[in-house]
Amino acid sequence: MSLIKVDEAREIILGKIEAQGTEKISINDSLGRVLAEDIIARRNNPPMDNSAMDGYALIAADIESATPENPVKLDVIEDLAAGYNPKTTVKPGQAIRIMTGAPIPEGSDAVIMQEDTERNGNSVLVKDRADVRENIRDAGEDVREGETVIHKGADIRPSHIGMMAVVGRSTVFVGRRPRVAILSTGDEIKDLDEPISGPCIYNSNGYMLSAQIKSAGGVPSYLGIARDDEKDLMEKFKWALQCDMVVSSGGVSVGDYDLVKASLKKMGQEMLFWKVAMKPGKPLAFGRIDDIPIFGLPGNPVSSFVSFEQFVRPSIRKMMGATQLTHRTVQAKLTRTIHKKAGRLHFLSANVQWENGACTVSPAQEQGSGILKSAVNANGLLIFPLELAEIAEGTQVTVQMLE
Ligand code: AMP
Ligand code: MG
Repeated sequence: MSLIKVDEAREIILGKIEAQGTEKISINDSLGRVLAEDIIARRNNPPMDNSAMDGYALIAADIESATPENPVKLDVIEDLAAGYNPKTTVKPGQAIRIMTGAPIPEGSDAVIMQEDTERNGNSVLVKDRADVRENIRDAGEDVREGETVIHKGADIRPSHIGMMAVVGRSTVFVGRRPRVAILSTGDEIKDLDEPISGPCIYNSNGYMLSAQIKSAGGVPSYLGIARDDEKDLMEKFKWALQCDMVVSSGGVSVGDYDLVKASLKKMGQEMLFWKVAMKPGKPLAFGRIDDIPIFGLPGNPVSSFVSFEQFVRPSIRKMMGATQLTHRTVQAKLTRTIHKKAGRLHFLSANVQWENGACTVSPAQEQGSGILKSAVNANGLLIFPLELAEIAEGTQVTVQMLE
């Protein structure tokens, strides 16, 4: 079987994944969710021209000559707080005491800040000149009526929640979070609360995948461990179909007990069994059972981890309606020369650092599908392109960030 490229496999997979429905939630609960509608402003913000300072609203031409030595005296005709409309109009020789955020009174065309004035009963001495419109914030300077302030597909951040409140939205439509079943496979795999000895290992993939699903925005549903037995596997896969997506690990390679493949062949529709030109990871199963997308990831921990990032994360994000499907990449300067055989794209556990404005990346010394420790100490995956055999120290390389 020939190898398929990572991008090609991802494209085929995403072509078969559809966005799920939406749900309406309080903006208080929307942090980290994917916005499922454009947020449109129904009125200007601020709604009217208003003062940027505590001070006096006046006519700029009146105080053209004002200096600390030769202040200009104006009559104060009103006190205006934020949240109230002015009752009077400013005429030559007059000023209105005004607070930050209060509407600019008719007749006035500038605000002088309090620090440049001296109040004396019903009059004020102004000690500095002002430009027309000085200290006046324009109506709609933040947001204009009819403007789309946040676009559908955005990952909701605190500033988005602030903006939704600015435009008066208490609830918002977001993409539904898919429930993702996790099925680990292997006679050697034990759960954390089981006694362990001899040749057995803990189900680290199950827990790691659960965390990856959560960080992608999905809701993990942990189904435990299936034995390397077709009947058990098929039973558990059937059970998993109550979810919106199924992710299994192990059993998709060419070993005698790699029965996930055989089970999926029997149960699945449009099952694809690939050898992806990547390392770590290579065997990958993708298809559907009863129209539920299903991924068979390789069992080696780093292979499972990296394969999830390339194929499952973007799928979960597409189901939620997100615009940005994969982790972002950065360009960084390689700190040491690296080698490999050409023919497969390598993902190297690596550390990106920013120092004095320069971005560098150091790949971990030890790389391997079973070396999870290197991933623990990494914040990114360095992309070592398929066709290359060497990248020299100092070269700019692409790193897929994991944070
Ligand atoms: P497999 O793809 O089933 O042949 O598994 C490949 C390697 O990954 C074997 O060494 C397995 O023991 C290991 N492995 C499989 N599943 C898990 C898991 N859930 N947690 C940790 N290691 C696993
Ligand atoms: Mg196995």
